[in-house]
Amino acid sequence: MRPRDLSANAPYVPGRGIEEVARDLGMDPGELVKLSSNENPHGPSPKAVAAVRDAADDVSVYPKAAHTDLAEELAERWGVAPEQVWVTPGADGALDYLARAMLDPGDRVLVPEPGFSYYAMSARYHHGSAASYPLTKDDGFAQAAETVLDAYDGERMVHVTTPHNPTGSELPREELLALLSGVDEHTLVVVDEAYAEFSTSPTAVDLLGEHDNLAVTRTFSKAYGLAGLRVGYALVPPEWADAYSRVNTPFAASAVGLAAALAALDDGEHVERSVESAQWAREYMEKGLDAHTFDSAGNFVLAEVGDGTAVTERARERGVIVRDTSSFGLPGCVRVSCGTESETRRAVETLNEVL
Ligand code: PMP
Repeated sequence: MRPRDLSANAPYVPGRGIEEVARDLGMDPGELVKLSSNENPHGPSPKAVAAVRDAADDVSVYPKAAHTDLAEELAERWGVAPEQVWVTPGADGALDYLARAMLDPGDRVLVPEPGFSYYAMSARYHHGSAASYPLTKDDGFAQAAETVLDAYDGERMVHVTTPHNPTGSELPREELLALLSGVDEHTLVVVDEAYAEFSTSPTAVDLLGEHDNLAVTRTFSKAYGLAGLRVGYALVPPEWADAYSRVNTPFAASAVGLAAALAALDDGEHVERSVESAQWAREYMEKGLDAHTFDSAGNFVLAEVGDGTAVTERARERGVIVRDTSSFGLPGCVRVSCGTESETRRAVETLNEVL
């Protein structure tokens, strides 16, 4: 017995855990600085932690499968109907649910290169395929409708990320508007706002009422510090009211995750502190690194370092874990997440030693 032919599905290779890396290096995990996954270095809100503890008492019963308290709270905050909020297992789950809702076998999606690899993977998991549009170093990875539309060939979904991972560049509002009106009627433009809290640019959410070919995805993994709980969501067009219950995996968002996300929303100060800290770290890295860096609106900085793979390895040997962006289709660079003040200082010092 074999599964169907999965050779077109690129295997997902997760980054190794800090314990495993520490063991390899013969170090204590506490000696390592892990700035490779754009996590919140300040952890979750204490309110979220308390909610996790409370929710733990009730985990013998299923969570709500749809229209959760979380969806209702998000709907209220964003000024949309609760049916437009699809709570999902991480923003990765949001991408999957959108692919399930949009793709027939053989359909194509258009993705940024370099970019977040799961857009293409999710399309393949849903029996589709991916083509790409380029973002280029020469113009600081500027994002423009024209670049996307030049490559566009009637794909069913077009993915944009703002702030973009791994470059930190943004898609200006007028470019998004040009993209929304430049694609065919049957194409959904998916704006991934996983890092939007770290940016001062406006969100695309308020365009949902005016454009029925737009979906926005967001996550509790970054600014809210809940990556381990896997809670994200998609905001979809009003006309999609009955679609969620036709595509969701029942109970995919855990009761504990839902409770924590709801509590985290209620701790604006924690998010604010996290965002301010990331802004400080970004500036510190942009000024302090002896390498060309690109303007970033996310909680990470992309640096041009020559041989990104070698620099990543040398930094790792000194206990500083950063991301070699070769896996994003961008050799020659490393992406460094914003850490706490001491982590960020150590990362800059170490990287400057090994550049
Ligand atoms: N979109 C982008 C651009 C990301 O970088 C990530 C995570 N690294 C995600 C989506 C998925 O985040 P999660 O599934 O943790 O919500």
